[in-house]
Order: sequence, then structure tokens, then C-alpha cells
Amino acid sequence: MRRRDFIVISGAFSAFVARGGQIATERPRLKVGIVSDTHIQDEASARHFEKALCYFRDCGVDAVMHVGDISDWGLVSAWRYAAEAWERVFPGNRAPDGRKIVKLFTTGNHDFEGIKYWDQKEEMLACGYNEKDLLVANGIEAQWERFFGEKFEPVVHKRVKGYDFITTHWNHRKAIVEWMKAHGGELDAAKPFFFFQHVNPDVTIAAGCSGDGGAARKAFDDSPNAVVIGGHTHLSLTDGHQIWQGGFTAVGAASMSWSELPFGYENARQLVPSKDRVEEMPPLQDRFFQTVKQGMVMSVYGDRIVFEKRDFTHDCELDAPWIVPLPGSGRRPYAFAAHAAATPIPRFGEDARVSVRTVVGSNRRGEKSVQMVVDFPSAVRDGVRAYDYEIRVESEGDEGQVVCRVVSPTYNCGFERECRAQRAVFSVRKLPRGVPYRVAVYPRNCFGGTGKPIRSDVRHST
Ligand SMILES: [Zn+2]
Repeated sequence: MRRRDFIVISGAFSAFVARGGQIATERPRLKVGIVSDTHIQDEASARHFEKALCYFRDCGVDAVMHVGDISDWGLVSAWRYAAEAWERVFPGNRAPDGRKIVKLFTTGNHDFEGIKYWDQKEEMLACGYNEKDLLVANGIEAQWERFFGEKFEPVVHKRVKGYDFITTHWNHRKAIVEWMKAHGGELDAAKPFFFFQHVNPDVTIAAGCSGDGGAARKAFDDSPNAVVIGGHTHLSLTDGHQIWQGGFTAVGAASMSWSELPFGYENARQLVPSKDRVEEMPPLQDRFFQTVKQGMVMSVYGDRIVFEKRDFTHDCELDAPWIVPLPGSGRRPYAFAAHAAATPIPRFGEDARVSVRTVVGSNRRGEKSVQMVVDFPSAVRDGVRAYDYEIRVESEGDEGQVVCRVVSPTYNCGFERECRAQRAVFSVRKLPRGVPYRVAVYPRNCFGGTGKPIRSDVRHST
């Protein structure tokens, strides 16, 4: 496609919309429900996928995107549960009013090799399933065709209401580079187009957890109208790093099973065990319990794309939608620096207080540990909530040492579900010796933008 054409045309759209002032009442030209990482295990765990499909149906979507890891252990039965849920909600691929609903599905690593990770094989066997039911043992291509009604091809190109959607399957994720060279010119240069793959493009939103070997960057770095949607990381949509704008726009699709967090939180799961770190707090979530499910509805208008973010566990909005000017308009409000600058700084309420006490507890490994327990209210004010909190110990004349960071236990839930109270626990070995100190709690937004702290009374340790 020709970049210049796209910019000129999308600029004309924006001007038209601005003069007409029709933005609020305008109907989207395209609506797509987006989920990823459903990690379906048994029949019961397919219900969350079905619930999302019902929501998308009621929103009037034209298509539903699933960005891979449909199954958790990689079983035929999981794809069957997914296909049956689809058929109940969209029988014959149709909405209740008879419109055709397009499936935009792709595969993820778990569909191919789910039982290779952690202790998943043991889980699978304990739940009454076995290796004879593995997708790879039954011909994954044939199973794809059987359950999702389309040929399993390395690169799949579909058109929905005039918009192009392209995906590569998990085992063909490098194929997009050659495909774009051969077919990129056939894409409609006047519109955004959408590429989805299970992993995220390198150096964008994946927080070091990628795996496409730079393929998406190679394919789309000069395609400002490309919108690349990836899953896999399970990072929460409440983290502003899940949208990125550079040469193209990248958006994370989060997870319909459980959320993950980047490293460095005292109360988060540590994906890579390290001798150096002993977290004093239990991790917020366990993979197997699959708590907190997120998805999106994407609406494409003449001048913008709106991503509404949904908490499917509590059936509410997660937080304010991302409103992306049409890629190619020249504006990139979701480049990390611009987005960070526009993200409000959280503040504590006027009467917020910190309480601090010392206890003999146990750390995450179950070892006895003398701990400092810090209790404080959540920083929620004027429609802004803190994403995480930094705990510092301050002595006379110094800025304070960071002793731990905790993420709010409800960081991945809808705004209205934000908990009222927070707790941080750290080892007293991090306290200064022989000098008076105070414990300070700083509320932060997802980009580390830090609000005014609240502080404990002065304490002493000898
Ligand atoms: Zn996954």
C-alpha cells in the first residue's frame, strides 16, 4: 500500500466528521468482539467464552476474533467445547437477525503444546483427560477444519464489511513477512487493516514476552494503517502499555482466563524463579483458578477506532476506552511517552492514613519471617485509581529507599470493583538500623507516574 495515499484520505475523513459534528451519533462501520487466551480445559471452563460471545452478539458485532490459546492443555475436547459454545450463540454462523458473523480465530502455543508447560500434564490427567485427545496427536489441521469450518492455512486473509483481516497460525508466525511482500499492495490503502497473531510484536507491548522473532515489525513498520492485535502475555488491559503506536499500532488482547504481571511486584507470581528474590506476600492469582477475564469490543468509524475494554468476570467496563485516531492520521496519542504524559496521576483521599506494624509471619516459601505490614486505603479519587503502590522507607535527609512495590489486588478488574484497602508486606531486614525512619506509600499509575505519598509516624529500629 502507499503510505501517502492513506494519510491524505484519512485526513479528509477527519475533517468531514469534524465539520459535520456527528461523532456521538455515528454508527460504527465495523464492530468486532475480541478475546484471547480462553485456555479452555473442561466443559465448565468454556462457559466464560460463551458468556463473552453472548455479550458480543448483544452488542451487534460483525465478527469475533480469538487470538489463540483456545485450549489450555491442547486437547481436541477443548476445541469442541469452543465450537459448541459458538454454535449455541451464533447457530450456522448467524446472528439472531440473520446477519453472518465472521470467525476470526487463530491458534496459540497452548493449542499445540499446552501439556509441556509447568505441571499441566499432571493437571490434565487428574481432571480425567488423556494424551490420546491431544490436538497434535489427532492432526491439528484436520481438527481446525472440523470444528471451525475453514482450512488451516499458514496465513489466512478475510474481509469483513470491506476491512482486511490477516492472521498467521502459531506454527507459521514468520510467514507474514513474505505474505506482506506478495500481497500488501492488494490491501485497501484508504482503510486500517488488521493483523492478529498469538504473540505480540517485538519491542512493543509484550514486556519482553514476545516470540514472533521480529516478523510483525518487519512486515508492518512502514504500514501506519496496520493494527496488530496479539494475545499470549495475559497482561491486563488496565495497563496502558497494552497499546502502542510507532510505525503501526499494536494492541494487546489480554486474557479470558487469568492475568499475568510484569516482574517486580511483591504480591505477584514470579514466572522465572530466582534465588535472589523471596517475596513476602502470596501471589495474587493462581493459573489454575482462571480468575478475572478480559476482552474488548472494537468499533471502527470513519475517523477513529474505539477499543472498549470489558471485565467479563464482573460484567462491567474495565476503564475508559482507547480511542485511536485512524492510523495514518499522523497523530499517535498511544505512543508510550505521549500516553504516559496524558495518564492522570493518582491521589490519596484527604484523610488517608498509613498504619504500620511488625509481625512474625511467613514468606511465600513458608519460611518464618519478621515482617513489616503496611495497611493503607486505596488511592481512588476523581475517577482515577492507582494501578500500583511503591513503599519507601525514609530516614532523615534522604529520599527514601524503595522496599517493595505492590499492585492493587483489583488492578485487572473494572473500576467500580476497585478494593478499598491495600496491604504491603516486606521483611524488616530492609529497615535502616539505628536511625529514625518513616514508611511512605506512593500511589502510581500504570506508567509509574507517582502521586503524593502518605507517611507513617516516625519509628525507630536499633
Ligand atoms: Zn495463554
